[in-house]
Amino acid sequence: MGPADLLRKSLLTLAADNRVRDLIERAPVSRSVVKRYVPGAYDSDAVAAVATLRATGRWATIDFLGEDTTDPQQAEAVTTAYLRLLDLLAADQLTARGEAEVSVKLSAIGQQLEGGDAIALANARRICEAAQRLGTTVTLDMEDHTTTDRTLTTLATLRADYPWVGVAIQAYLHRSEADCAALAGEGSRVRLCKGAYSEPEEVAFQSMDEVDKSYVRCLRILLSGKGYPMIATHDPRLVEIGTALAREAGRAPDSFEFQMLYGVRPEEQRRLADRGHRMRVYIPYGEEWYGYLMRRMAERPANAMLFVRSLISR
Ligand code: FAD
Repeated sequence: MGPADLLRKSLLTLAADNRVRDLIERAPVSRSVVKRYVPGAYDSDAVAAVATLRATGRWATIDFLGEDTTDPQQAEAVTTAYLRLLDLLAADQLTARGEAEVSVKLSAIGQQLEGGDAIALANARRICEAAQRLGTTVTLDMEDHTTTDRTLTTLATLRADYPWVGVAIQAYLHRSEADCAALAGEGSRVRLCKGAYSEPEEVAFQSMDEVDKSYVRCLRILLSGKGYPMIATHDPRLVEIGTALAREAGRAPDSFEFQMLYGVRPEEQRRLADRGHRMRVYIPYGEEWYGYLMRRMAERPANAMLFVRSLISR
């Protein structure tokens, strides 16, 4: 394992450590580092970010930060936050063509509670019902591998009533080619990403090269299928390959989209949108930025250095 892999693994371990989280949250982290990736704590901050992106032709999917909810009241609060957010977006006419949708982590709406699958399903239904009424969509984020089966089962149940519900598939998992094949049918919205958690070698490719190759195999399956692929990556090579494979498959510009994270490669986001591609930006908002930001740091050592400097220099 090289130094970069070691740093990545360490940061991912810290992302799940509540003691370190408490320490860092109390430290005087430069607001500007967090703000680059998380526009703010309030739904109004998220809506303002959506409007700014719209002005340059970009669409949005919004994530209310909060994972591993451990009490039912918190699951209810997260669900209510999504419902309020959807209403705010609709009031600003940002939902009718699906320009702004929401991304939901099932763990944030109750999946880890006792009887959690039923709770998360019921809460997800409420969010889907609101999204349908307002003309937009919902995508389920994918979390660590212990939840993949449960998330896909919940997806299948939701899709019986809301066939437009999407899901993220992580190319680093050995199983993902098969999942992509199963999810490449008519109307199926699949967001393909590399995967952001620290996973054991029994279930996941460990080297970046193997992950990238798996990503391309999954892309081929999705782009030659009948669904709506969402190509979520900042990797210039994969964006290029995705563009070429979409062309090869004869895909119209409105039959797939690219996705990137808020604050990451904004010039490339604009370039893709200017070239007529659908470009959707994932916007996280809320107080619970710690786990999200640690995963971003792990992906890019340069960001980790920026973060560490901000911790010690104020
Ligand atoms: P990386 O291997 O991280 O980066 C490849 C190259 O991209 C780099 O070499 C560099 O050239 C460029 N690059 C990357 N970051 C930067 C940067 N900050 N500045 C400049 N260039 C950069 N993961 C999950 O596990 N579950 C999810 O539900 C999920 N949803 C996601 C939704 C979206 C819209 C996106 C974009 C990602 C999501 N992820 C999710 C995270 C994903 O799995 C990866 O961890 C993350 O996107 C980094 O992988 P990458 O494809 O960008 O490639």
